[in-house]
Amino acid sequence: MSNFAALGLSDALQQALSTLDYRKATPIQQQAIPEILAGKDLMAEAQTGTGKTAAFALPILERLAQEEVDNSLRPIRALVLVPTRELAVQVTDSFYAYGEHLGLRIVPIYGGVRIDNQMRRLKRGADILVATPGRLLDLIAREVFTLDQLQTLVLDEADRMLDLGFIGEIEKLIAQIPENRQTLLFSATISANIEKLARQILTNPAYIAVAKRNAAANTVQQIAYRVDNRDKADTLSYMIQGGQWKQVLVFTRTKKRADILSAHLEEEGISAAAIHGDKGQRQRMQALEAFKAGKVRVLVATDVAARGLDIDALPRVVNFDLPNVPEAYIHRIGRTGRAGSSGQAISLVAPDEKAYLAEIEALLKRPLKLKAVPYYEDGSSEPIEMETSAPKTKPGARQKGKAATKKPTARQIAHAKAEQEAEQQTAAKPNLRPSFLSQSVPKSKGKKRK
Ligand code: AMP
Repeated sequence: MSNFAALGLSDALQQALSTLDYRKATPIQQQAIPEILAGKDLMAEAQTGTGKTAAFALPILERLAQEEVDNSLRPIRALVLVPTRELAVQVTDSFYAYGEHLGLRIVPIYGGVRIDNQMRRLKRGADILVATPGRLLDLIAREVFTLDQLQTLVLDEADRMLDLGFIGEIEKLIAQIPENRQTLLFSATISANIEKLARQILTNPAYIAVAKRNAAANTVQQIAYRVDNRDKADTLSYMIQGGQWKQVLVFTRTKKRADILSAHLEEEGISAAAIHGDKGQRQRMQALEAFKAGKVRVLVATDVAARGLDIDALPRVVNFDLPNVPEAYIHRIGRTGRAGSSGQAISLVAPDEKAYLAEIEALLKRPLKLKAVPYYEDGSSEPIEMETSAPKTKPGARQKGKAATKKPTARQIAHAKAEQEAEQQTAAKPNLRPSFLSQSVPKSKGKKRK
């Protein structure tokens, strides 16, 4: 019996999973699927890359497929709320892939595209909606559909939804759906606001944590380099070329810096694309597809634009700028080291970013020691980490063959290796139910299901 069969998933789903080459359920899937199938509310602390989408999509599909419904009516029975359009598209695609043999109708709802096409699709009925909050409320106001028959509500990346200011929309929505429903809350980090939301909308939930609380995935090696702001772009192109990186996701703090960096890399002969909130949906999707297909080597993104990007086995992410919100660091580095593969998260830290670094270290509960930019020996993609001070020559100059950095000594190399090993070790998080979930607070107002 397959691992998924043991979890209670039917043949039709197992067949789809085998087509996708999912051989074994991930830890979050193993824990969440039985709880969701049993109808329980759930609070799951899980980052992107843990297999969280399948952890809620599979049991939802399983339950809905087993119910008999009047095909002509197709009431919406499950709703997945997501923070961004990209995530709406990706989660919908996952539902399509898993539900291939089930005949359920799944419809994505998000802003930035014409509303009339979505209205037309919805009028034909849907079993599952995957929606961003704003557009969803818009459609509800137009009375295109009701959520009277809703059985399961999922809040995916709830922390991100709160960061993006969606709390008002979430509360409005909760007031319009049956109180007697199943609610699943997924969040990468748990802040005081998430705790508050959990108390409002969950009833006696099961609690699952797969990623360590406020800590990075332990397969991710984290490195921080000391780099002056004006040298960052050259340093990055030096590392991309010296390290022969084929694919890297780079985060900047602002849209403008994303554009400037992407143009700089292009000038250096490194194919790059920027995605951020000023780019249209189509441009963002094109950039993402080009990156996934290997046509673009570097994808430069702001935090908001990067939400929900699903890129398999990303080897490396770079924090070109440290985020000013420490939780964003966890989100960013969660893009690498996915599904058990190892990854590297590299931060370029300018002197004026030390305060951000300190906040991140406090959240991680461990220091990220600043190092000098690594040295690549000619023809080698293996960096040699230096413990000396930053190189005096601009990395851009070294890359053109005029190696200015002295060869490290054996002691320095040994030291760098020991440091790398120490960095790879992180403590595991016990799966303890946080006390805030024990307080029984009645669910916030909502319609009673008939
Ligand atoms: P998620 O955490 O939902 O963003 O999923 C991360 C990636 O892992 C996605 O590309 C999934 O297709 C993949 N994935 C999810 N579950 C499994 C599994 N059981 N086996 C292999 N890959 C999986």
